[in-house]
Amino acid sequence: MSGPSESGSGKVGTPELFDKVVNLTKRRGFVYPSAEIYGGFRSTYDYGPIGVLLLRNVKDAWWRSMVQLREDVVGLDASILSPPQIWEASGHLANFTDPLVDCTKCNTRHRLDKLDDPEVCPNCGARGSFTEPREFNLMFKTQAGPVQDAGAVAYLRPETAQGMFINFKNVIDTTRVRPPFGIAQVGKSFRNEITPGNFVFRTREFEQMEMEFFVHPDEAQQWYEYWCAERYQWYLDHGMPEDQLRLRPHDDDELSHYSSGTSDVEFLFPWGWDELEGIANRGNYDLTQHAAHSGEKLEWYDQAANERWVPHVIEPAAGATRTAMAFLMAAYDEEEVKGETRVVLRLHHRIAPYKVAVLPLSKKAELADPARALAQQLRGSFMTDYDETQSIGRRYRRQDELGTPYCITFDFDSLEDHAVTVRERDSMEQERIAIADVASYLRERMI
Ligand code: ATP
Repeated sequence: MSGPSESGSGKVGTPELFDKVVNLTKRRGFVYPSAEIYGGFRSTYDYGPIGVLLLRNVKDAWWRSMVQLREDVVGLDASILSPPQIWEASGHLANFTDPLVDCTKCNTRHRLDKLDDPEVCPNCGARGSFTEPREFNLMFKTQAGPVQDAGAVAYLRPETAQGMFINFKNVIDTTRVRPPFGIAQVGKSFRNEITPGNFVFRTREFEQMEMEFFVHPDEAQQWYEYWCAERYQWYLDHGMPEDQLRLRPHDDDELSHYSSGTSDVEFLFPWGWDELEGIANRGNYDLTQHAAHSGEKLEWYDQAANERWVPHVIEPAAGATRTAMAFLMAAYDEEEVKGETRVVLRLHHRIAPYKVAVLPLSKKAELADPARALAQQLRGSFMTDYDETQSIGRRYRRQDELGTPYCITFDFDSLEDHAVTVRERDSMEQERIAIADVASYLRERMI
């Protein structure tokens, strides 16, 4: 593990920063502990009115880059409930396990491969108190329908990827894609993690953003390198600082048996570097396995060359909830302004929950009515907040804490000059803009 970075505000990567971000997310309606009125429920979280916007923006930014802006990737939304055959073929039933140990002194459970010292219990400090490791399968098992026989067994998917493999044939038969091409999906996954924790970093229910890119076997290495570079750049393009982000190739002993190359995009969390996304060269493992288990031919027929081959797969697999948290940690900043501390989330505009807030200087209908009308007009193009309570200073501070890139103040002069003051979040610079030009002003800066 690396230590905290020395860069930026000097608060990067510290436990103190982590606490501040978690407190902010609770205070401002980003994330609530799930079932809080019943005392909460085991590392599950609900995304509140602000958090749902943030999370949606992370997923939309991914979808925009991975599907909308590309000719060679199509989307999919597969079901979460799935039959055992899928997980038999994928190897998850046999191998999707983590090594579990119990501490015989304090009766806590731990994931052996994540311990700093495999001999020492991180809860009570006892040495040599662990039981022999047991392989614990992380899949949630349930039953579909009212009958409790073996035929009713179903699993909640532990990754979205298998949806793409089992629909490979459907997609090539019903669309005009041809290799190299990808199938992308965003959605919930479930893992019965032994030790969930670090807020939404590791939870049992989470969201993933995954893409399977099908290529000719001879081109797999080149595409693997392409996707490593592309995915690393995506985080930089959306505001992650370079000194808190790295691309780390796996050592040979970390690789899955079918992978000929995996790299993780890692973010510098308070506890050190940890994974946001894995990019893997999976060879033809998945299609071959599903072909063998289902009896379907899962291959590509190249008519021009009269050749059949099983595509190799490059998989960039990211976590949406985990990435949303990393964006918050990277964006959090404090600065001294006129003797007071200003907390500001310097989020990239595409990730920011609200893009703009309209703030009339007075609650009086004289100002509030036209300000509301402006907010309503902007809503057609931008997620817009409207706030007329408290002093203007406090309202700016609230928007800074939400990461809103632009605040628009509607004052008494606005009634005369038909202009408003636009304040930019990071520089706090203000400009007077004609009301008629506000939408194009924002569009130029944010789209
Ligand atoms: P880890 O080693 O942290 O358990 P993994 O390598 O098994 O993760 P993958 O199977 O590669 O993770 O999943 C792809 C991405 O999904 C991860 O990079 C992460 O962002 C996200 N992810 C995986 N498990 C969880 C979880 N329990 N909670 C939140 N996000 C997760």
